[in-house]
Amino acid sequence: MARINRKKPFRPRCKYCRTNKFVVPIVYGARVSEELLEKEQKDEIVLGGVARSVDAPNWHCKGCGWEFLR
Ligand SMILES: [Zn+2]
Repeated sequence: MARINRKKPFRPRCKYCRTNKFVVPIVYGARVSEELLEKEQKDEIVLGGVARSVDAPNWHCKGCGWEFLR
C-alpha cells in the first residue's frame, strides 16, 4: 500500500510558470535567525523583512518573480 508522505512541504503552483518548482515561502519577521539566512542562501525561502500588512504575499516564485498570497 502506498504511504502518503505528509512531511513533504506543500507548495502552491505558480500560475505563470505552471509549476511549483520555483515557488518558495516568504518568511516575514524583524529578527532574522542564522537558520533563516542559511535557508535563504539555499533558495528554500525568501526573506520578506517586516510584514507590510496582513495580506502580504507569502509565496514567491523564483522563476518569474511573482508573489502571491494563498
Ligand atoms: Zn512563476
